[in-house]
Amino acid sequence: MSRFFKACFFLISILAIAILVYIAVPWYRFNAIIIHHSASNNDNYASIKEFHAKSRGWRDAAYHLILSNGSTYVPTGYLEATGRYHYLSFSPATKDPECNLQALHLCIVGNYNQRELPQKLRAPLAYALRSLQKKYHIRDSRILFHRDCNGTACPGRFISKEKIKDWVDLQADKCLPKIKNQQLEVIDATLMSFNPPWRSPLALEIVRFSRSCVRLIPSWSGS
Ligand SMILES: [Zn+2]
Repeated sequence: MSRFFKACFFLISILAIAILVYIAVPWYRFNAIIIHHSASNNDNYASIKEFHAKSRGWRDAAYHLILSNGSTYVPTGYLEATGRYHYLSFSPATKDPECNLQALHLCIVGNYNQRELPQKLRAPLAYALRSLQKKYHIRDSRILFHRDCNGTACPGRFISKEKIKDWVDLQADKCLPKIKNQQLEVIDATLMSFNPPWRSPLALEIVRFSRSCVRLIPSWSGS
């Protein structure tokens, strides 16, 4: 075999292995989603990260993803990804090693031991859960709570499995398109993620540009 063909064979093998790893890692990485609450009403990734650094000495927030309740500059229903999500690494969020190593930890900002999850957060939570289930191939029965791992009320007594199931079944489609797009962008932005071409950053930019052009049309036509 000539040197050229050997080099081609080597490159194709490396590419094939890379594609397999990119598909396999998101497929097998998580076997559950574990829901938490932040237990305080004004929080976001930055404040949780700071709190965990000061109180526990952790370099990053304990969770993979944080769902905003709109109490800070992060709009309601938007997801923030921590470094742990970007690298699909483990979480120290519970006292159970299996929960920490094998699950994706999602924290909802707010205290749901004191109040119901606000209506405005139900569709965004449902959409995030459904999208994560789809991406990581997680069954309905594997949407768990922190209190399933160790003795705690987290994510609060006002959040139950029945309510989560109802919201995912009935509310996910009602999520605003703006929130859906933001969540999908965040969910796909991992180091190991095989994004379909229509969700690549370039495609999203083209969609955004086309939308802003459409918005300008009435001003061009003078109406
Ligand atoms: Zn928790």
